[in-house]
Formats: sequence, C-alpha cells, structure tokens
Amino acid sequence: MVMALSSPKTISSFEIALHNVDLAAKKIGLDADITTLIKNPDRELKVELPLVRDDGTLHVYTGFRVQHNNVRGPFKGGIRYHPEVDLDEVRALAALMTWKTAIVDLPFGGAKGGITCDPRTLSEKELEQLTRSFTKGIDPIIGPNTDIPAPDVNTNAQVMSWFLDEYSRRHGFSPACVTGKPVDLFGSYGREEATGRGVVITFREAARVLGIDLKASRVALQGFGNVGSNTAKILAGGGGTIVAVSDMYGGIYSKKGIDIPALVEHLRKTKGVKGFPGTEALSNEELLECDCDVLIPAALGGQITKANAARVKAKLIVEGANEPLTYEADEILEAKGTRVVPDILANAGGVTVSYFEWAQNLQQFRWEEDRVNAELEKIMVRAFAQVWQKTQEHKVPMRVGAYIVAIERVARSTALRGHY
Ligand code: NAD
Repeated sequence: MVMALSSPKTISSFEIALHNVDLAAKKIGLDADITTLIKNPDRELKVELPLVRDDGTLHVYTGFRVQHNNVRGPFKGGIRYHPEVDLDEVRALAALMTWKTAIVDLPFGGAKGGITCDPRTLSEKELEQLTRSFTKGIDPIIGPNTDIPAPDVNTNAQVMSWFLDEYSRRHGFSPACVTGKPVDLFGSYGREEATGRGVVITFREAARVLGIDLKASRVALQGFGNVGSNTAKILAGGGGTIVAVSDMYGGIYSKKGIDIPALVEHLRKTKGVKGFPGTEALSNEELLECDCDVLIPAALGGQITKANAARVKAKLIVEGANEPLTYEADEILEAKGTRVVPDILANAGGVTVSYFEWAQNLQQFRWEEDRVNAELEKIMVRAFAQVWQKTQEHKVPMRVGAYIVAIERVARSTALRGHY
C-alpha cells in the first residue's frame, strides 16, 4: 500500500472510457440506444465521512461508490484511497470494471469506489476509522449479491479486513461482501499476486502472437506496488530482463538487469526502489521513455499522453494500471506501430481471482493455490484469444478488439433482459 504522485493527464478519465466504447460500437454497428444505455452508470453515491483525528480535530472526507452496470451480475470493483480521487475518475474506473468482467466472462458487472484522502497523513487507527465510516456510508447499496468491493491503489488486505468486519457487524457473518481479504480471514490463495500473474500471462500470449522473444525482452516497469512488484517477481522467474523499475519516489535503471528478489528486500528496508545498488537513477518520465522492448505501466492513470507518447521506445506496452494511456497517446503509438495489451484485458487477473474468492466464500470451501492459478491461466488465455480474434477480424488495435468482446457481451445480456 503506497501513496502516489499526481498524474499528468489532461483528458477526463471518463471521457477516455467513453471514447473507447464509441470506437468499438461504431466498428460493430451497435444500436445507438443500447450504446447509450451501456455507457451510462446505473447509480452514483457520494458520502461524507467525518473523522475525529488522533489530535481531536474533526475532518470531513468525501467518498464515492459508482455502480456502472450489473446486467451480467452483481457490481464488482475496487476501492481507491488517493488525493486525486473524484467522481469522474471513479466513474471511469467503474465503467472499466464492466468491460473487464465481461472480457474474462465473469458473472459480475462493474463498480468502483474511493475516498479523496492522502493516506500518508493518516495513522493506522485513523485509516481504520475512515474505512469503517466508508463501509457504513455505502452500506445501503452493497452486499454479497449486490456489489462486492476489493482493493485498489493504496488499499490492501488489511483495509478489506476492516471492511469485512464492519459489514458483518451490521449483517452477520458475510465473508463474500468484499474480496482481496487476507488468507487468514477468508481470502483466497493467489489473490495477492493475481493481477501481476494475469499481466504476465497476457504479456506471454501477446509475445507469442506478435513473434516477440519473451526471454530476450528488456522490460521497464512503472510502479512497484501490488501489481508492479508481483509482475516483476513472476517475470523474474522466467520471462525477460527487467531493466528499469520506478515508484512514486523515482526510478532505477540497469542495462544488465535488476535483481528483483534483492530489490524487494531493498524496498522493505528503505520504502522505495531508489538507491538500489548497481543501478543508475532515473525519473518516472525518463522510465516511460527509456531504452527497452516492453513497457509495463503499473502505477496510475494518464501516464502516457500526447506530450510523451512519441518518445516511448518500447514496441509493446502491457497495461498493468488502469487507463495509463490517453486515447491521444493510443493514436500516436498506433501510428508508430507500438502494440498495446489494454488494461481491461491485461489486469483482469485480479478480478478473476476475486471471483474465485467470492465463490469460495459462498461455498465455504477453500481451493488450493495450484487450482487457483490453473483456473486463472485458463481464463486469461481464453480471454486473450477472444480479444486477439476480434482484433484480427476487425483489423483494429487490441484495445478496440477488447472493447468489442466486452460490449458485445454486455449488449447481448442487456437485450436479453430487456431495457426497462
Ligand atoms: P499500489 O498502491 O499497491 O501501488 C501503486 C504503485 O505505484 C506504488 O509503487 C507507487 O509508489 C507507484 N506510483 C504512484 N505514483 C507513481 C508515479 N507517478 N510514478 C511511478 N510510480 C508511481 O496499487 P496497485 O494495486 O498496484 O495498483 C496499481 C494500478 O493497477 C492502478 O492503476 C490500479 O487501478 C491497477 N489495478 C490494480 C489491481 C489490484 O488487484 N490491486 C487490479 C487491477 C488493476
């Protein structure tokens, strides 16, 4: 759980999400009414969260839960704690969840939540109080069969534990009310690493169809939190050389490759990747433009824009983060021949194992880690193949191929249910 710096994006996050739906809808000639229906969020809740700080002063925070679409199943999506959280961002992230759950064909819809706060300024006790207050605030619209939150930026298994406890105090034992919990508290084996594992699977599949030698690839990774560090650990176990890594404090570069287990140990001691022995320092901006074959943005949205896209040297981008590229950046990169494995496919491993966790909680039956990883592999490989098939069929970038898979599924379910 790490704080993040501000992002340089200039386009609204929701604008980007809608733009991509429009591109895909136009390509397949989707009915205009259905397109409107599936673009708009179903419900948006804003809550005031009073918190008595440790020094006795009262501070009022703002929280949001946006439920974008539930035609395919209960709303599902993470909770983000960050100073830049606002309704537009949460709305965009909720929409991405609708498309993401559809791509991996889970029985879920899409939602997202967040609190506009700077967790670095909060004590553990204050963070717990704020989480409990948020759980109470959104209580009327969530539940194991209604809307199931999960972790996102600056929230982790501990935050999910407080969420579970607060929800269960009101409704009785309800382990399926939230996912991303610790294994010791109804969590699933493999959930912590799942998003990173999914990123690596889609990277491997993209390398295969694009004829890229995975093992010879030089990889640059932005962000070293849950998604970034787990992607790095799994890649280090047999896929490519990681030449650059950054976090909110700055980055490091080594032509020879970075020893990831040693970097994880360095991070544990110093709280940042900077200063790791045997590497050169580089800024986050430099990391995005560094000499590498594959770039994996795994931090915040809006990192690659029209301002820097032309300088990106990677030939393949695998989006670990949500919306790290604006659509203007997409256009510039496409013209340069850079391939992009889009967020709604590449980082869908997290919600997939969240689905396994939810199913285990409902059945009160724990899966072994091997089973979790094998089922995740199957789902990610199938989703990649379906996206790639649409990409080829319509001769479009992979992002548009992914949106086509998603909106066709959501539109079909909408038509079957009827739109009243
Ligand atoms: P996290 O809080 O665990 O880690 C975020 C990382 O990004 C930290 O290393 C932080 O230092 C770094 N960072 C922040 N600002 C930065 C900047 N300007 N430049 C470089 N690094 C910066 O968050 P996370 O859960 O790893 O999420 C990262 C991204 O992945 C987000 O976009 C999130 O929405 C997305 N995502 C997460 C999950 C999940 O399961 N956690 C699933 C799908 C998508």
